[in-house]
Amino acid sequence: MNQTLNDTVEAGTYRDLRDKVVLVTGGASGIGLAIARAFAVNDSRVVIVGRDKGRLERAGVEIGGNVNCIRFDLNEIGRLPELVATVRSNVGEIDVLVNNAGINLKKDALEVSVEEFENIIRTNQTAVFELSKEVGKSMVARGSGNVIMISSMASQYGIPKVVAYTASKSAVEGMTRALAVEWSRHGVRVNCIAPGFIRTAMSSTALDNDPERKIRVLSRTPAGRLGEPSDVANAALFLASRKSKYITGVVLPVDGGNSVGF
Ligand code: NDP
Repeated sequence: MNQTLNDTVEAGTYRDLRDKVVLVTGGASGIGLAIARAFAVNDSRVVIVGRDKGRLERAGVEIGGNVNCIRFDLNEIGRLPELVATVRSNVGEIDVLVNNAGINLKKDALEVSVEEFENIIRTNQTAVFELSKEVGKSMVARGSGNVIMISSMASQYGIPKVVAYTASKSAVEGMTRALAVEWSRHGVRVNCIAPGFIRTAMSSTALDNDPERKIRVLSRTPAGRLGEPSDVANAALFLASRKSKYITGVVLPVDGGNSVGF
């Protein structure tokens, strides 16, 4: 078990999450892996989705216990109903959907081609909507469910060289509010976490090759450090649990104060 997670996520903290079926996209690495582990620690029945078979298998072993790994490319939008049907027949109806999978592209806006732009939008925005819709159908019919989106600091303020990513993550925050108001009366809550700069492979690629950006990030983060994936996982547990039962449509920054940093 990861030490950081051990320090901060305790088994049984959220008893109402026991036996809940939790689908975490991109759950084989980084933030998604921490989220999957946190739900598993709380005895949820966890399903993780990703494209890389080896990474999924390693994550399955690391999470241990009650986890199902499904190899699936979320860009195959037309096959998303098949993914949801597979989860239903292998594990059960989805109680919590965590739309965590995402990709980034760091490039000057003037250099971004329409294909590159659309590729980011497809994974980070269109697939998120279609999967939420597919899972939402049965949540609305059953009168309960929880959808958790993951956005970014890129949707809180302007960051250069990530125009497509920023467009997609801003859309995710808008979708959160739109779905929350449509589905609230059906007992389905939709919330979003906006992680600050969290220590993962994705952020290391973006920051380690750009020391100037790293200094800038840390200098405007009052906590004075990068976040840990478990910091985001703890917020996801709270938003999926009954402890947040009157909270819907919010965007919760988990950022060490980065979004309000001077
Ligand atoms: P990672 O790159 O570690 O994780 C992204 C995951 O998404 C991978 O497991 C990847 O698996 C999966 N994925 C990507 N595309 C697809 C696809 N088409 N189909 C299925 N799975 C896919 O990044 P992070 O953990 O850092 O990021 C997780 C989320 O948090 C992202 O949405 C990111 O935008 C967001 N975020 C991260 C921040 C950070 O500082 N790290 C800050 C703000 C937001 P595979 O490649 O095997 O398919």
